[in-house]
Amino acid sequence: MAQLSDDCFAFGGPMMSVDDAVGIITSRVTAVAAIETVALAEADGRILARDVAAPLSLPPFTNSAVDGYAVQSQDLPHEQEQAFAVSGRVQAGMSGQAARRGHAVRIFTGAPMPEGTDTVFMQEDVRLEESGKVVLPAGLKAGANVRPAGEDVPKGHVALRAGQRLRPQDIALAAAFGLTGLDVIRRIRVAVFSTGDELASPGTERAAAQLFDSNRFMLIAMLKRLGCEVSDLGILRDEREPLANALKQVAGAHDLILTTGGVSTGEEDHVKAGVESVGSLVLWRMAIKPGRPVAMGIIAGTPFIGLPGSPVASFVTFVHVVRPTVLALSGAGPAPLVPIPVRAAFSYRKKPGRREYVRVTLRQADDGTMEAIKFPREGAGLLSSLVDTDGLVELGETLTRVEPGERVGFFGYANLL
Ligand code: AMP
Ligand code: MG
Repeated sequence: MAQLSDDCFAFGGPMMSVDDAVGIITSRVTAVAAIETVALAEADGRILARDVAAPLSLPPFTNSAVDGYAVQSQDLPHEQEQAFAVSGRVQAGMSGQAARRGHAVRIFTGAPMPEGTDTVFMQEDVRLEESGKVVLPAGLKAGANVRPAGEDVPKGHVALRAGQRLRPQDIALAAAFGLTGLDVIRRIRVAVFSTGDELASPGTERAAAQLFDSNRFMLIAMLKRLGCEVSDLGILRDEREPLANALKQVAGAHDLILTTGGVSTGEEDHVKAGVESVGSLVLWRMAIKPGRPVAMGIIAGTPFIGLPGSPVASFVTFVHVVRPTVLALSGAGPAPLVPIPVRAAFSYRKKPGRREYVRVTLRQADDGTMEAIKFPREGAGLLSSLVDTDGLVELGETLTRVEPGERVGFFGYANLL
């Protein structure tokens, strides 16, 4: 377990910008050290623990890129077509063929080039004579239609890098090298709690003044998309001592503790006092909307993050605080979020000095560009505003207004995790 010091999230300024937050997290949170080997079929989404150098060249042998006729380049017809005797035939998977000077060899895609040959005529470009000879046209370049050994990946090349999240194509490359498994960093373990007397778990009785806890299920799903192993620990009531005890109890067995709710500064917000009684805590006033404060703490060496309770604030702060923390703990290399340029189909006023996220739906405009249509309402408690939109438009700290037709940066929900 990566032990963090109690002052690890200390911060002097009045407001925490998104960039400062990411900077503090990535410089102070270290990756878990444990490595495990997983079979290729289980490797998707895992974080690679070590570089992988090619143990063999790809392709491993020089082979034909087409079905056709292989010849030696010294024999290539230059001025006019020329008939060649066909001696030999080599299919994919066969080897050991050699070619005679002045002869062509029948060859198929993927078959190794017969010894001495270096050029292949596509079967579509040749003519067969009744004599059995093949007539090859003039003008083909030496080396045409051949895939040289190592043209894809030369032996020894570092083809996969430690810290990368494995994708299907990365796993295919490992298989092409003949590997059966990959060394990955073990999944990080995250404990998730909701907090608040107003919450009821789906499947339990809901009192008249309660709402069903939805954030916990959103956060669990987001964490799983980031490859975490999640402990769903239910709802903590607004009572300092039981809350503190529950947090302390899970600290040792988890790499991160995540809560939602109870971190604003109201007198019924007990998370702050609860964490302080068993560890340390700082409130980051995020310069972000929707956002509000995010509580950052350390409990027995384990990082703690307390997100706001409003669903949209919880979602947005997850992306900017929890995601980088999870990536750092997971040993994943930096994965900056890259916006896609779209045109705003709305006007908007904002305060300078903070970053705002506008929930939008995308539509293709008549001129083919993508337009972002703003969700009509703005409340941070509107879960439907996340459900009925495609993603978030980011309005940077220095902006104060957006007018229709202006270019803005868009993040699809799937790309935020
Ligand atoms: P809080 O941050 O505790 O002040 O919560 C702010 C508001 O967010 C509450 O009044 C609830 O309406 C809502 N809320 C808090 N926790 C959750 C949750 N787990 N699921 C859904 N909504 C929540
Ligand atoms: Mg609350």
